[in-house]
Amino acid sequence: MQYTQIIDISLPLTGKTIVYPGNPKIEISEIKSEASKSIISKIVSASHNGTHIDAPRHAIHGGISIDEFSLDMFMGLCRVIDCTGDVGAVSKDILETQNVLEGERILLKTSNSLRGYNEFYPDFVYLSSEGAEYLAETGVKLVGIDYLSIKQKGSTDNRPHTLLLEKNIPIIEGIDLSQVEPEEYTLVAFPLRYVGIDGAPARVVLLKN
Ligand SMILES: [Zn+2]
Repeated sequence: MQYTQIIDISLPLTGKTIVYPGNPKIEISEIKSEASKSIISKIVSASHNGTHIDAPRHAIHGGISIDEFSLDMFMGLCRVIDCTGDVGAVSKDILETQNVLEGERILLKTSNSLRGYNEFYPDFVYLSSEGAEYLAETGVKLVGIDYLSIKQKGSTDNRPHTLLLEKNIPIIEGIDLSQVEPEEYTLVAFPLRYVGIDGAPARVVLLKN
């Protein structure tokens, strides 16, 4: 694989990492073995903390779990789309102007990336339901967004999740695109192999040619 740079778009995981309200915070504590003097860490977290990938089971009854995805979903060409001009929600209009194609992996760069991840903003930019419908109908392979949820905080309209997940389109949430120009990259984003659950953390990087 040819590349000149690896751009890490994963959020650092510490006890201070912001989490979506209601999710358990990350807790990390060191445990020392008296016998061997070696150190291990006990980690308490949630499947949707930090940079992570949503599986259909998150929003669809009977949907597949994170370990049931084929790994080739998570590696290959992707395109970062500039949505920083969209206020509130990523609109269908901006996606249409980008001529999104079937089979593309699409990462949405919004003003969330410019605000940073030091504190939780309830008014984060999310994907509109019309935008999700457009991406699902186009048949993209994967969608990513630069905040901890793809849907509006507090909204009962869960279509940004359901329209994508019912088509087995994985959603990467919690990526930091502040250092990323909107163009094409190779994505590498393997979720941890937790079995039977709704999502899992991932180390997500972009390879620049
Ligand atoms: Zn999630």
